[in-house]
Amino acid sequence: IIASQLVVPEEINVNWKDIAGLDHLIKELRETVILPIQKRELFADSRLTQPPKGVLLHGPPGCGKTLIAKATAKEANMSFINLDVSLLTDKWYGETQKLAAAVFSLAVKLQPCIVFIDEIESFLRTRTQHDHEATAMMKTQFMSLWDGLITDPTCTVIIMGATNRPQDLDKAIQRRMPATFHVPMPSETQRERILQLILQSEPTAPDIEYRRLAMATEGFSGSDLHELCRQAAVYRVRDLARDELAREQQTQETKSNTSDSDEEYVDA
Ligand code: ATP
Repeated sequence: IIASQLVVPEEINVNWKDIAGLDHLIKELRETVILPIQKRELFADSRLTQPPKGVLLHGPPGCGKTLIAKATAKEANMSFINLDVSLLTDKWYGETQKLAAAVFSLAVKLQPCIVFIDEIESFLRTRTQHDHEATAMMKTQFMSLWDGLITDPTCTVIIMGATNRPQDLDKAIQRRMPATFHVPMPSETQRERILQLILQSEPTAPDIEYRRLAMATEGFSGSDLHELCRQAAVYRVRDLARDELAREQQTQETKSNTSDSDEEYVDA
């Protein structure tokens, strides 16, 4: 298996401007994760100020964890590897150990680099006696590769995990992720900001009341708000398309009626 065929760095096209309502979190990420990458020589000087090699984003689904991970990579000018854990947990694969080693060596080659692992708990959950032998070996190997990054002060590879079940994560993994951020369900004010961002370049009614929309969407995640706006936009275009089609058909009918009466006139 050639890792470069299965694991490829992703081109990122989002940045902080694509995230609404999470200014405080962005500030924290800037100081905890990005600054140590940008000023590595200052932070790497002492064991006490080593930059984090593990970052955990936790919170409910659809609230921007993936978006934040990608924007962090973009803003820090880091490569981004989105690691599909099913590649590492597929028991029939047989080559997963080589693959894990290849992922880490690719990340080191591309550093500074973020290796993003969505639903990290599905792969690095609390170890039990019932673990499949291959799974247990995989976890141990993954952790020892990770430790290799942690102990190398010159290395700028960060494992960034996302989960909505942080309690299921192995304690040993939690220790390797000293920078932990909660990405919550958006509040009313945050929903208002997210809606404004999603609709900022859309043709909306001039009197749109974002505050009222935010109030009416209690319990919606950022992803739900995006879907709501998408549906509204599609309905609007469908209405336009239907009207335009009806107009065209009417013009067609008028034309053919006129030409029928012309023929009648010629016949006569
Ligand atoms: P999951 O746990 O399901 O993987 P997630 O927390 O990683 O979800 P994202 O995939 O980052 O969520 O977000 C999904 C989509 O929701 C984004 O692509 C974006 O359109 C929208 N979104 C979520 N949160 C925000 C936000 N704070 N600002 C702007 N858009 C947002």
